[in-house]
Amino acid sequence: VREAQPVAKAPPPQRRTVKLTHPDRLYWPEEGVTKEGLADYYSDVWRHMAPMVVGRPLALLRCPNGIDGEKFFQKHAWKGLNQNIVLIKDPKDAGGAPLISINDLDGMLGLVQSAALEIHPWGSTAADWEHPDIIVMDLDPGDGVSWQAVTEAAQEVRQRLVDKGLAAFLKTSGGKGLHVVAPLKPKVGWPEVKAFTKAIADAMASDDPDRYVSTISKSKRHGKILVDYLRNQRGATAVACYSTRARPGASVSAPLSWDELGAEVGPAHFTVENMPRRLEALASDPWEDFRAAAVPLAAKRGKAS
Ligand code: ATP
Ligand code: MN
Ligand code: MN
Repeated sequence: VREAQPVAKAPPPQRRTVKLTHPDRLYWPEEGVTKEGLADYYSDVWRHMAPMVVGRPLALLRCPNGIDGEKFFQKHAWKGLNQNIVLIKDPKDAGGAPLISINDLDGMLGLVQSAALEIHPWGSTAADWEHPDIIVMDLDPGDGVSWQAVTEAAQEVRQRLVDKGLAAFLKTSGGKGLHVVAPLKPKVGWPEVKAFTKAIADAMASDDPDRYVSTISKSKRHGKILVDYLRNQRGATAVACYSTRARPGASVSAPLSWDELGAEVGPAHFTVENMPRRLEALASDPWEDFRAAAVPLAAKRGKAS
């Protein structure tokens, strides 16, 4: 078991050294995205993606025969794992199987070789398991919810986070919703962070019950948005920035700037196909200031209304 090394900044672009078997295997048949095409995609976005995936426990959605075949969500290491993938031990599960982590682009390409079509990191790093360094508020629209309403929900979560002294960043999920993410200095533990996010979700549901629910049991309610705060507990995950989704369209979870939020950019707008061009055209990474904007969550904030 090697130790994962968290990085503070994106590393420079690297040369690809991982050998792909069956590079022509189709992962997204409709879009013609192959294993090699996916490796090219991650090589292109790696500089932007790395800070959000390196040095963290990762869960993977693996699809050996592409998105139309069998899919399994995998949290633990397996036999015959690509050598660029790093095994880490959960300190609270000393007897359990190792978890999966990566340190570099080769590790990411090892995941591509392993048919990991979705990458889902924890909200804490292997350098500091018990203190989350991000909050993820996951907005899940029920049937019949307009995109406009989802964008308003994101603005409201943003405002509530800012009111508590945090910075808020936006990404599409690549699926149906949006994620509002706040960087934290890793100070307080999982229970405090969970309580803080639950308080926000509950406040939204009680202030505006026609629009929002905060409990999964009510989440099927037609026309409402589930403010899913349960990404913020130990061992929970959320899809990584720039991760692909194992869904039709080869969509990716796309970091946005707040002024891009609107009718033009839907939750699955950005894809393996168009994201590299977007990054080339952008003057700067929309999440450039993410880590610099981190503040510690005060323990007392956890119980605030
Ligand atoms: P959408 O916008 O469509 O909601 P999403 O990524 O936010 O996309 P959710 O269903 O809201 O999807 O979130 C599920 C999260 O739960 C995933 O991001 C993943 O990290 C985590 N998860 C836990 N267990 C599983 C599992 N068995 N299969 C898929 N995801 C899982
Ligand atoms: Mn969601
Ligand atoms: Mn959810």
